[in-house]
Amino acid sequence: MPITHSPRHSTHLVIFTDLDGTLLDHETYSFDPAQDALKEIERRGIPLVLCTSKTRAEVERYRRALNNHHPFIVENGGATFIPTGYFPFASPYQREVGSYHVIEYGMPYPRLVDMLREVRAESGARIAGFSDLSIEQVAALTRLPAEGARLAKVREYDEPFFVKGPPEELDRVKTLFRKRGCRCTRGGRFHHLTGPNDKGKAVSDLVRLFERAYGECRTVGIGDSQNDLPMLWAVDVPILVQRIDGKHDPTVRVPNLIRAQGIGPQGWRTAVLDLLVRQD
Ligand SMILES: [Mg+2]
Repeated sequence: MPITHSPRHSTHLVIFTDLDGTLLDHETYSFDPAQDALKEIERRGIPLVLCTSKTRAEVERYRRALNNHHPFIVENGGATFIPTGYFPFASPYQREVGSYHVIEYGMPYPRLVDMLREVRAESGARIAGFSDLSIEQVAALTRLPAEGARLAKVREYDEPFFVKGPPEELDRVKTLFRKRGCRCTRGGRFHHLTGPNDKGKAVSDLVRLFERAYGECRTVGIGDSQNDLPMLWAVDVPILVQRIDGKHDPTVRVPNLIRAQGIGPQGWRTAVLDLLVRQD
């Protein structure tokens, strides 16, 4: 579906959002508390770009549930998927998958899995990644239903992992990953091993395409964790929602950060409705 222009505003809003623990409840993965804000965004034709550590297979399910037809960013900035014909101009991409043009930033998943195994052997640390786990084990850890866990395992650019042991063990592991040119970041439940990509680069590149299509844009980013930090740096209006314990992640610090009142989708709703009122 091509982008729509809203004649009501001189500057176009574009909203980038994390999913887990932000638009989706940390425990139930529901976006219900944010329904009225989502409806208002849709009514106004504001692009809502999902920007998550989830896989393409998972995001496609949420896009259907949200009736969302906008580009999306998967696996912590591993790749951006742009529906064919979405922008009224041609722009570079690396792959064509189904009805998407794919801009790739990430390291191929098999390489990440090899590195996890190498680092485990070298460090002797007790590390486990999604690649070591069965669908049932992923379901138990994430509290996703079996089908959701299956889609979460269809990974292309990001290996979620955890380390059993003291924090020094994690630090040692992270150093070894960094030596191999990889990055580690922290999401709501897991650490994530990726190539030299993050949500920020993918968001900045996509903002440039929106600006080419719309002219000047006012960009909003909403997240809850450390892995959202690069995205929040890349937008005009950074918003942080409360985590499950009712606190804002203290490691997420950017200038002019709006700390929304409310956990996950409740905070999301409040922040978005506030923003839209001020935009009028
Ligand atoms: Mg999150």
